[in-house]
Amino acid sequence: MILVIADHDLGILDPLSLQAVTAARSLDPEVHVLLVGAADADAAPQLTAHGAAAVHVAQHDALTDYAPLASARAALQLIDELSPRAVIATGSPRGNEVLAHVAAIRDLPMAADCVSLTLDDAGSHQVVRNRWGGNLLETALVHSPLLLATLAPHAIPAAEASAAGTVREFTPTLDPSDTAVRVIDRTGDAGGGIGLADARVIVSGGRGVGGPEGFKVLEDLAALLGAAIGCSRVVTSAGWRPHSEQVGQTGTKVAPDLYIACGISGATQHIAGCRNAKTIIAINTDKDAPIMGYAHYAVIGDLHSVLPALVQATRESKG
Ligand SMILES: Cc1cc2nc3c(=O)[nH]c(=O)nc-3n(C[C@H](O)[C@H](O)[C@H](O)COP(=O)(O)OP(=O)(O)OC[C@H]3O[C@@H](n4cnc5c(N)ncnc54)[C@H](O)[C@@H]3O)c2cc1C
Repeated sequence: MILVIADHDLGILDPLSLQAVTAARSLDPEVHVLLVGAADADAAPQLTAHGAAAVHVAQHDALTDYAPLASARAALQLIDELSPRAVIATGSPRGNEVLAHVAAIRDLPMAADCVSLTLDDAGSHQVVRNRWGGNLLETALVHSPLLLATLAPHAIPAAEASAAGTVREFTPTLDPSDTAVRVIDRTGDAGGGIGLADARVIVSGGRGVGGPEGFKVLEDLAALLGAAIGCSRVVTSAGWRPHSEQVGQTGTKVAPDLYIACGISGATQHIAGCRNAKTIIAINTDKDAPIMGYAHYAVIGDLHSVLPALVQATRESKG
């Protein structure tokens, strides 16, 4: 049996959780899932539709929002109860954080950002994991009675499975110190647009956009294409766009059908976040920019003239 730690934000399931369930099923047909906190009524059915045999929903008055140590305590309680062969969490900042707490408390090794996992009953589990922002794949053995691993975003596509899973609630035993670190407030972007992580099309801007006002034409194109806006770290560091839109090693890792990189040079830390895009179109004045090594199509030109023309052509094609 494999235990998956699912992630959700205010009840909205992180789609990476479904990828983790799919990966777990390839290791063992029996997959249980931990869902911590006031998960939306929709989350558990999504997990069972992807093959989870059981979803354990941790409910506690102190679990009002994300609380990493409390989530780890709930996971430890289930580990003791269910004795899984492995615990898999999402390779997101939250999944890595929660599982790192589990590993530290149990003094076990943890493998982060894995693209493939092979269980070994003798305790020498093989993992292939991303290193250097995904520029290198490392094969490693994890010597542990219990494999703790996080799955790299988009390493394995989520696949539905016909399984009649059960859902049960339980109350984890928590100490007040377990929720000393927790989300207590949210400010700024309240969301509402298309989420970056699961967008099928992303229009992304870099330093070449020139400033916050330069994003207006990217927003116009995104609206026409039903796309999300992304950006490089230079852009978020300059305060042109919020950090929630940053793509890359220290931002969100995305896997859209189409990624339009406008005025982005293609530094390895940026590519680490968008290399899983099915098609990359680069718009750049520099034909030798590193992004050209990854782009499937390129427009060599000034984005300030290319993008308005693209917006107009898209409008016309839509009638
Ligand atoms: C530890 C670490 C983590 C990092 N994490 C991330 C990360 O998560 N995400 C990330 O993006 N970066 C990250 N970086 C930063 C990264 O190394 C680059 O500095 C950054 O990605 C560059 O952003 P950029 O492409 O927008 O800017 P630049 O590298 O300055 O490129 C701008 C591009 O725009 C083109 N251009 C200029 N004017 C125009 C125009 N008018 N029309 C068309 N093209 C034009 C230029 O030719 C150039 O290619 C990280 C760095 C470190 C050290």
